[in-house]
Amino acid sequence: MLPALLTNGEACLNRAELIARSRRVVVKVGSGVLTAQGHGLDWDRVRLLAGQLARLAEGERQVLLVSSGAVASGRAKAGLPYDRELTLNEKQAVAALGQAGLMQAYEESFAEHGKKVAQVLLTAADLRSRTRFVNARSTLYTLLDWGVIPVVNENDTVSVAEIKLGDNDNLAAMLTNLLGAELMINLTNVDGILDADPRLNPQAQRIPVVEKVDAQLLQAASAQPGAVGLGGILSKVRAADKVARCGAHTIVANGLKDDILDRLQAGDDLGTLFLPRPTPLNSRKHWIAFAAAGGGEVVVDEGAVRPLVERGKSLLAAGVREVRGEFPEGSAVKVLGPGDCILGVGLSNYASRDLRQVMGLRSAEIAGRLGREQADEVIHRDNLVVFDLDEEESVACLLNS
Ligand code: GLU
Repeated sequence: MLPALLTNGEACLNRAELIARSRRVVVKVGSGVLTAQGHGLDWDRVRLLAGQLARLAEGERQVLLVSSGAVASGRAKAGLPYDRELTLNEKQAVAALGQAGLMQAYEESFAEHGKKVAQVLLTAADLRSRTRFVNARSTLYTLLDWGVIPVVNENDTVSVAEIKLGDNDNLAAMLTNLLGAELMINLTNVDGILDADPRLNPQAQRIPVVEKVDAQLLQAASAQPGAVGLGGILSKVRAADKVARCGAHTIVANGLKDDILDRLQAGDDLGTLFLPRPTPLNSRKHWIAFAAAGGGEVVVDEGAVRPLVERGKSLLAAGVREVRGEFPEGSAVKVLGPGDCILGVGLSNYASRDLRQVMGLRSAEIAGRLGREQADEVIHRDNLVVFDLDEEESVACLLNS
């Protein structure tokens, strides 16, 4: 029996209690933990992790693993020198090569603990589409209900943009929301987030708890070295902020410590713990804000800002001043205010082409202009996520990740 589960947005400062009260945990392991530069996959590390993950998944707790390491281990397998820049196709090819070995290592290591694993490869496009997002959720729940540990990685072999831009920190944050997990544990090759750049300030200290990610922390994180792999420290902080906004916790900790998960489970004060936001976004709104958005932008009039931000109104055509980018009806678009500040993200009932024709018009004039009836709201309030204006800087950083 699990102790009383955490409610969404409820903060827990004790690492042992946090794990004990979590029904679902997403664990992300970075390339820097699984591979040493120039060498292939570290099987001993995989075995150590598998044992601890199996213990974490004891009882009714469900564990999903997001594992990097395909590119780094595939590159060594292919005999390509680690300091040579790879072409995109080479990266995609070594990802395929490395992924096979990665799964073999997990399959064998988990089998020693009586656990089965399943490979799930996802692209950003899978998470952007609501249908595919919801379908992935059902499949993952089925695997978890069977007691299987899904091992998820980005499908680097087919995702052209993702291999350059995406990182598994972000993927793990999306999956934490998708599963409604209470906790994400992000295992990297540093001890946690530091309060300053250690190269400039040797007194830099690990931050044990982050109540809320703010612009200052993002700034400090962007300067920190460390973490091999795509993301770096900044992407860990961004991912933790996204997790906090869906009401869950993140622990960023050092996966090179042999017993890291056991020690966290025992309550040791290791790594950096990020607390959830007390008033999180529900899962669908979180998906709109962080998974669905493409490149489209809608700039609103100054007069539309207050109704949207303070009074929770829908966005009407009359309030739209400019439309940027091309997007079909139903797309998630950024909503910008004066000076291009980010007000929110919402699903547009209009394709960009139609919206350009009707922007600035009153609702009664729309049908005449388009020659057909179309929804009154450009973005309905139920499909709109509005951010706090005083968080503009942090949100801009999140949405650009
Ligand atoms: N998907 C990449 C891999 O398996 C890693 C991405 C990342 O480092 O975040 O190698």
